[in-house]
Amino acid sequence: MSGVVNLLEFDLDGLAAFCEQLGEKRFRATQLFRWIHQKGASDFAQMSDLAKSLRDKLAGAAEVRPLAVASEQASSDGTIKWLFDVGGGNAVETVFIPEDDRGTLCVSSQAGCAVGCRFCSTGHQGFSRNLSTGEIVAQLWFAEHHLRRRLNLPDGERAITNVVMMGMGEPLQNYAALLPALRVMLDDHGYGLSRRRVTVSTSGVVPMIDRLRDDCPVALAVSLHAPNDPLRDDLVPLNRKYGIAELLAACNRYLDRAPRDFITFEYCMLDGVNDAPEQARELIALVRHKVPCKFNLIPFNPFPESGLKRSPRERVMAFARVLQDAGVITTVRKTRGDDIDAACGQLAGEVQDRTRVKARIATRSPIRIHRQGDAQDKQDNAGTRQETNA
Ligand code: SF4
Repeated sequence: MSGVVNLLEFDLDGLAAFCEQLGEKRFRATQLFRWIHQKGASDFAQMSDLAKSLRDKLAGAAEVRPLAVASEQASSDGTIKWLFDVGGGNAVETVFIPEDDRGTLCVSSQAGCAVGCRFCSTGHQGFSRNLSTGEIVAQLWFAEHHLRRRLNLPDGERAITNVVMMGMGEPLQNYAALLPALRVMLDDHGYGLSRRRVTVSTSGVVPMIDRLRDDCPVALAVSLHAPNDPLRDDLVPLNRKYGIAELLAACNRYLDRAPRDFITFEYCMLDGVNDAPEQARELIALVRHKVPCKFNLIPFNPFPESGLKRSPRERVMAFARVLQDAGVITTVRKTRGDDIDAACGQLAGEVQDRTRVKARIATRSPIRIHRQGDAQDKQDNAGTRQETNA
């Protein structure tokens, strides 16, 4: 690793501290920050309003280090997916999803993921390492300025209006790098995104939900995927550590400071596993009058190792109707970029798994389905009834 400092690693306070070491005042750091993030500049010689002496100092000591683009795929619906090489045989994905009124960038926080959710391609690859702040920010920096040029946007118009930390990795298990990256996204001298337009999606790392609330309360999405603990233990192994009741309590604490007055619950629809109407009713009992929320039902993107299937469309719509009829706001996510495998983790292939995640997943038993009405559940919450394996 070179001794040259990557300026993408810094939020504005960090850059000011770095500039101070060079004998420069904070307003110089602000100018530099704007050049990098607002104008997409990486060549200090271009930064015409910076003092020549500062440009000379930067030229030897610092750089704006982009990620290497390994591949780019563009879908017929406008979705673009980049695969970035982050070294050591690892790659991470970033996806741009254009819609009429917004452009959303789905950003990765880790190479692989240690949580190991059943339905997630990334989770099946295991975990290699956390991305640094600079590697998280570089995804946005590249996408924003690349898209401005590609879409020929007029000066001052942004390509990316929303960021979701929903790519590869569990962002709250990489909190130290995530926090400065969020600050870069929100900073008026950086990308100037409002807290409502930046979403952190978590599988439920309860203590870090509390930290995020205190440090940088952006919009929060929670990967719920099951209406009860036994099924969620199977689908999202982190649930064994932080169960649903504890998670929902953390969601309520988060809402004290959140920029939105609801939590988004993500729910991946798995055929015959979590998509029955009675499971929708179980969800209603779980959240109604307890957690202000909306549900986002996500069509599952099948991959061979999962052994799972996508719920048929009519089953998804029936599930949505049960929730909606009970007054729970529910949307069904449109599938985007189907022609380019735009779901996260589907391009990256094998990461260099430095954990035992893959081994753990390989030894799992078939999914057991747990529903509220099961006789044994009534006697003993740990008891379960085995049904079809999807
Ligand atoms: S869904 Fe998220 S938390 Fe779960 S394995 Fe995939 S990347 Fe990790």
